[in-house]
Amino acid sequence: MTIQQSADTIVKSAEPKVPGAPTFKSRHPETLALHGGSFRFDPTTGAVAVPIYQTTSFQLPGTEGADKLFALEAAGHLYTRVSNPTQDAFEQRLAEIEGGVAALALASGQAASAFAILNLARAGDNIVSAVGIYGGTWALFAATLKGFGIETRFVDATDPEAFARATDDRTRAYYAESLPNPKLEVFPIAEVAAIGRRFGVPLIVDNTAAPLIIRPFEHGAAVVVYSATKYIGGHGTSIGGAIVDGGNFPWADLGERQPNLNEPDSSYQGKTWIEKAEAIGFFPYILRARAVLLRDIGAAISPQNAFQLIQGLETLPLRLRQHNENAIKVAEFLKIHPKVENVIFPKFQSGAAGDRAATYFKPGTYGALVGFELKGGREAGRRFIDGLELFYHLANIGDARSLAIHPSTTTHSQLSPDDQLATGVTPGYVRLSIGIEHPDDLIADLAQAIDAA
Ligand code: PLP
Repeated sequence: MTIQQSADTIVKSAEPKVPGAPTFKSRHPETLALHGGSFRFDPTTGAVAVPIYQTTSFQLPGTEGADKLFALEAAGHLYTRVSNPTQDAFEQRLAEIEGGVAALALASGQAASAFAILNLARAGDNIVSAVGIYGGTWALFAATLKGFGIETRFVDATDPEAFARATDDRTRAYYAESLPNPKLEVFPIAEVAAIGRRFGVPLIVDNTAAPLIIRPFEHGAAVVVYSATKYIGGHGTSIGGAIVDGGNFPWADLGERQPNLNEPDSSYQGKTWIEKAEAIGFFPYILRARAVLLRDIGAAISPQNAFQLIQGLETLPLRLRQHNENAIKVAEFLKIHPKVENVIFPKFQSGAAGDRAATYFKPGTYGALVGFELKGGREAGRRFIDGLELFYHLANIGDARSLAIHPSTTTHSQLSPDDQLATGVTPGYVRLSIGIEHPDDLIADLAQAIDAA
């Protein structure tokens, strides 16, 4: 499946064949996870599982055809750094599950957030980001992109208008996580997306912690970023990432605000990416990210890992259901435990945070991250972690297995006590990523480890 064919499939699939009939896009995530995208079976062998196209390069047609491929005037795979059929099947399926129009798979979640920004911002430009983001993304924005001349203005997400106040003529994007930890307060997606649309600034949402259960495009986000390493892969085997284009942002009408897509690119016959995309019926944001950033930076996902992530996607809706149900049971157990001071879980939030949880989560879901504070503080946190038998002690989230970490002695140990508190990490705070084991076994393990703490 080529880029052009992918675009044709997505466009065609959105058109009802019979007036009033459900469109392909109206299918449910459970179905799209198995059938989304144009791959049905391998045309050569009939294989139903997406094959791993473990090849660096693809045979070119005659010289004239090759010219067209290289000029992006015809669609087709050339070299796996830029596209590959296994990657393509993953991208199409993810885009459909997410409700977007196109996706680009990348080597990691970090590559995805870097590409999401670098596709729009250059030296001298700035972005506005929520403060509550993953530490690796923070370092990327505050240090590495700063070194490239791209400034990040960090603002408090509880005040959506702070995004407007931080915006100037050189602001190219807003960035946030839908469900940032440790505070687990849902980001005001619709409010900030609407502010961005006033200025022509797209909201990019990292939805790693809440696939399927928070739907950023339904609330006006323009681009979704994933660390597919987490729930999408789901088994802790493969590092990967993706950016998804919602197809809902007017890039072509924003010449001055979005120069990367609207100014002629000398490395592609002096055409703009809006023109290049129009000519082949594709989507400019993803086309440029692939044709420019993958070409130049090369953070390609391997076909093997793209295959693993497809396996993950196929059971994502099923796993997410169990993750969510288990997390609610665990949070309710902790809430009434006498040695537990406080439980951080969206279901228990009130005020503005509670309202946002009610607005943005699909009914009955709150994600599978649960934070809690032990009354005994830092030492109790350490003893609790050492007492766990079933939960793994590691710095990851979204695995099928349950995971625990004590941030003040691990991920946040380099921060001063005051800075730890500012990020929401108290000395006794423990973060759990609840897996899909039987909930009674999880609760039994937590109970015995808390007793030992
Ligand atoms: N975004 C979030 C919310 C994350 O938690 C992580 C990793 O922990 C990343 C992005 C980076 O993803 P990766 O580890 O796949 O590069």
